[in-house]
Amino acid sequence: MASNELGGTQTQASRDYLDELNPEQRCAVEFGMEDATGGGPLLIIAGAGTGKTQTLAYRLAHLLVRGADARRVLLMTFSRRAARELEHRVGKIVQQVLNLDAGTGHLTLPWCGTFHGIGARLLREYATRVGLDASFTILDRADSVDLMGIVRYQQGYSETERRFPSKASCLSIYSRAVNSREPLQVLLDGAYPWCSTWKSALDELFAAYVAQKQAQHILDYDDLLLYWAHMMEDPELGGEIGARFDHVLVDEYQDTNALQSDIVHALRPSGHGVTVVGDDAQSIYSFRSATVRNILDFAQHYQPAAARVSLARNYRSSPQILSACNAVIGLAKEGFEKRLWSDRAATPPAEIVEVGDETDQAQYVARSILERRETGMALRNQAVLFRTSSHSALLEIELARRDIPFVKYGGLRFLEAAHIKDVLSLLRWADNPHHGLAATRVAQLLPGVGPATASRIAGAAASGDMLAALDRLEIAESLRAPWDELRRVLRRLSKGAARWPLAIGEAIEWYLPHLERIYDDARVRRIDLEDLARMAALHGTRERFLTEMTLDPPEAVGDEAGAPYKDDDFLVLSTIHSAKGREWRAVSVLNVVDGCIPSDMATGTIAEIEEERRLLYVAMTRARDHLSLVVPRRFYIHQQSDKGDRHVYAQRSRFVPDALLPHFALSAWLPTVPLASSSVPKPNVAPIDLAEKVRRSWERN
Ligand code: ATP
Ligand code: MG
Repeated sequence: MASNELGGTQTQASRDYLDELNPEQRCAVEFGMEDATGGGPLLIIAGAGTGKTQTLAYRLAHLLVRGADARRVLLMTFSRRAARELEHRVGKIVQQVLNLDAGTGHLTLPWCGTFHGIGARLLREYATRVGLDASFTILDRADSVDLMGIVRYQQGYSETERRFPSKASCLSIYSRAVNSREPLQVLLDGAYPWCSTWKSALDELFAAYVAQKQAQHILDYDDLLLYWAHMMEDPELGGEIGARFDHVLVDEYQDTNALQSDIVHALRPSGHGVTVVGDDAQSIYSFRSATVRNILDFAQHYQPAAARVSLARNYRSSPQILSACNAVIGLAKEGFEKRLWSDRAATPPAEIVEVGDETDQAQYVARSILERRETGMALRNQAVLFRTSSHSALLEIELARRDIPFVKYGGLRFLEAAHIKDVLSLLRWADNPHHGLAATRVAQLLPGVGPATASRIAGAAASGDMLAALDRLEIAESLRAPWDELRRVLRRLSKGAARWPLAIGEAIEWYLPHLERIYDDARVRRIDLEDLARMAALHGTRERFLTEMTLDPPEAVGDEAGAPYKDDDFLVLSTIHSAKGREWRAVSVLNVVDGCIPSDMATGTIAEIEEERRLLYVAMTRARDHLSLVVPRRFYIHQQSDKGDRHVYAQRSRFVPDALLPHFALSAWLPTVPLASSSVPKPNVAPIDLAEKVRRSWERN
């Protein structure tokens, strides 16, 4: 029997836990174990569903079982949910191996999270060393756009003769420049050629934006990585931070950007103890400056080169589904070499189902989900994926009509709702009196307060002792009662006065009368506020809550607060981006037509088209036993500026050309029961003989 720091003992039986892995996975798990530093750098690069995340979890568990200190492990992945799942998986393996009982064996990894989350924590700790105020607030993307808009206005760019890039474009250019570490002119010429001539104006705008952030003691998302990377460049500070970790492990490395890879390299320059995992064929975040070069060049970054393990056996999908996935990615312009194989039990082939339009699509998907549930497949084992959040709108109506519970990931986030932002702004302002953006938002909630008074209030609050300054401020008599109420709640919320999480209750209580006055649907919005209070109670401190909510807000209420319905069986709807790394027994992909995948928005360059292809590949590779690609033949286009809303005939996505059809089962579906209660207008085009059309198109192949 061997004993371990975690207090457990390992028996012979439990030592065989690595037998569950295949030889390549095992080789990656045991790599460098004879060396106290965990060996040199290791790259696990492999296709979808080959057990990369599983292998990473086993490797970390193995390190811990062999005595590594969990407090000195840095484990990063792309979302907080993925991080939590990884931590849970590692915990379970360790518990099982060391025979820890459930009560004593709860393993936590204090440094497990997203790059942005970990960056925020380190920055708070080292703030004063890098000239930051430790009570800085973090701006979410929407607030950053607003701040950019304010600066753009102040600098006079809203009145230029030639149209200046919008505030959202300005922020995305700024963000790309920061994250990609590319010179601005190069970036503009390559990715935003229509803005190329604005280089010097943008330089000035960005400088003013940075100055505003500093004055208000706020950091945006990009700053969290930027400051972290800067800290790592300082030999003393960088060394100190790097020395805190013995092991650095990163999942989904193909979707990291230049700053993130610089951070990983700087944390452990020798590469000892570094493991990165990913799949170049699944890189789908270049619009956030991710670069697939990070994973492709990782091994050669080190001298000698990092060890590399490839995995080819797919454990997720049936051979039939995998052959369709392989076929789709096989047409990629860059020759990804991975041909995955699977010896899972055979299933029927992946399906391509043609339907008349999006209304039929919603009906078809809802029905097939219910049919599968009748055969014993729970809703939670099924998912519906789509390119863009709005694509699921009709399906959501159909699911509600049929009483099918679902949770939706991606798209409009909970925290973007105005009433949630109102309450959080109050907390942020109480936390950071310099936070002008939060202050003006809150002040404008008072009846009769417009931008001018709000900015006077914000200015006063930032000028010294916030509460005293607000007491001295002259305010119109008509505002007296709500003004007194606001100062009272700010006093209660200022640091330390109201204990956490009671403070959130006080903030909501202050807000409710405003909510009732401002919104017609206040009753519905109140429920969200109750959810917010519940989430707050899950976080130990206000600062932790605000940071985490801003950095990685729950994509849906159910994400944070457990199952969204009392009924714990629910279907998942998700954008493809948010489905990364996950799997379900049955997956339906909506709108597999040109214009949706690839998206109309992304048909500019070959690189963009290729990324859309990988997106479809990511969607398809989520399926274990059942996969349908749904192709509506008519498609409704919204708000085309010159042509108005209209229906168009859609083509099956170019990523599934005729030559690939032998990998699929083809069918057409027509609704058998008219949608009596549907309020969705039927398309205003002549009916087509769909079955005949489909039959002919298949026969050609
Ligand atoms: P993705 O590319 O989608 O992130 P991945 O390569 O990370 O996928 P995992 O999610 O780790 O793959 O694993 C896919 C599935 O295969 C999971 O259900 C996992 O439990 C299973 N699996 C992985 N390795 C093995 C194994 N050696 N034996 C049995 N099942 C395995
Ligand atoms: Mg994975």
